[in-house]
Amino acid sequence: NVRVRFCPSPTGMPHVGMVRTCLFNWAYARHTGGTFVFRIEDTDAARDSEESFELILDSLRWLGLDWDEGVGKPGPHEPYRQSQRMDIYAKVAKQLLDGGYAYESFSTPEEVEARHRAAGRDPKLGYDGYDRDLTEEQKAAYRAEGRQPVLRMRMPDEDITFTDVVRGEITFKAGSVPDYVIVRANGHPLYTLVNPVDDALMEITHVLRGEDLLSSTPRQIVLYRALQELGVAKYMPEFGHLPYVMGEGNKKLSKRDPESNLLHHRRNGMIPEGFLNYLALLGWSISPTNDIFSAEEMVGAFDVHDVNPNPARFDVKKCTAINAEHIRLLAEDDFRDRLVPYLADIYSPEDERQPMVSAETFAQLSEREQEILTVAAPLIQTRIQVLSQAREMLGFLFVGADQVEYDEKAVGKLKPEAKEVLAAAIETVEALPEFTTEALEHSLRAKIVEEMEIKPRLAFGPLRLAVTGRLVSPPLFECMELLGKEESLARLRRFAG
Ligand code: GLU
Repeated sequence: NVRVRFCPSPTGMPHVGMVRTCLFNWAYARHTGGTFVFRIEDTDAARDSEESFELILDSLRWLGLDWDEGVGKPGPHEPYRQSQRMDIYAKVAKQLLDGGYAYESFSTPEEVEARHRAAGRDPKLGYDGYDRDLTEEQKAAYRAEGRQPVLRMRMPDEDITFTDVVRGEITFKAGSVPDYVIVRANGHPLYTLVNPVDDALMEITHVLRGEDLLSSTPRQIVLYRALQELGVAKYMPEFGHLPYVMGEGNKKLSKRDPESNLLHHRRNGMIPEGFLNYLALLGWSISPTNDIFSAEEMVGAFDVHDVNPNPARFDVKKCTAINAEHIRLLAEDDFRDRLVPYLADIYSPEDERQPMVSAETFAQLSEREQEILTVAAPLIQTRIQVLSQAREMLGFLFVGADQVEYDEKAVGKLKPEAKEVLAAAIETVEALPEFTTEALEHSLRAKIVEEMEIKPRLAFGPLRLAVTGRLVSPPLFECMELLGKEESLARLRRFAG
């Protein structure tokens, strides 16, 4: 019975690599009918923050990645926040010490380096095992100097080999991994201890995580062996290391790159369906010919053994293109409703832009706003890639004629005919008996294109600019009908000057 876990440390912004790891664990649990455990690794009080914790929770909810056991969900291994499990770690650390798996170490880093230098070795080699077999007298002497020991795991003098479910067999040579610290001198347990201890106690079967953690695996295997002998761990989990996510210029995506930040993508108007789909492609594919799939389809097909070990590139263009496909798949009303927070600009509080609409949800909008959006949303559903583009595309519908902002570059390029075209359009519209999309299209075409013999592009460009402020917009006549006769005329007149 598969038990996997997602165990982020709540520092900084939720990032792409982290959610990709979460998604693969989740998909593997769902595919196998296993259990997905969500644990918070918050043992680093200096770096952890409650804000970051909340952002992680919020991101998982946004993406629909639900867990079976863990933070906020009762389960047999509570609590699921490491900051609340300190007594457990203290107890296991004592067992490791008493069993001889770990030992007290008093050497300072300077002393270790000095010993390496004296022996003609690279001073940066790491800990040298000096304190492995201190006698009780030696330890007492150090204590008398006022030193407090750290606790180190005793690494065996043999190769450590394991079969990574993503990468196949991996060997760490004997002597390549120094005895490492599991508890600080002040008694504070480190990631090296608490992570495998919790994996053991929570009966995790598959440790699936980023490639950056590959180097901690030999340490954890040794610790796990000890935990098995102590009866703390029931079995050795399998390990799988998911490929690095690369950014621009084939460098590892760094926390400083804006596209590494999940919130950036949400603000930009990725929808969860599209974003999950793209994340899944960072190391996995559902078929050689199809890139577009739902979370459900992923669950049906996902096997962690199929993950590609090669670095994956985060390609913003592909990500938005995939999002566009998922936007097209949304039901009309659903799409419409999802635009509202973007028109209300709730994701960019740092900008001083005016919200385009009066509320953050469709139901709270005014009747007129609801009417506009219901007609206008379908006009852009196939034209945008990310929801934030709705503001640019539809903003003109929610302002008065005097507030339309014109694309100045386009205005500067208007041809001399524009003046005549606008005058003719005003005259034609004024005389229209019924103000509908069809009537507008028919009469304006008859007047300007046929009678005045002006090419359609030159004929409708100035009108589009007058009404929407831009040269690219949802269909012009539909928009005019939606705005109504008076408002449309007001815009044409204002623009005609
Ligand atoms: N808390 C660790 C991190 O955020 C988890 C590492 C692991 O999955 O073992 O990187």
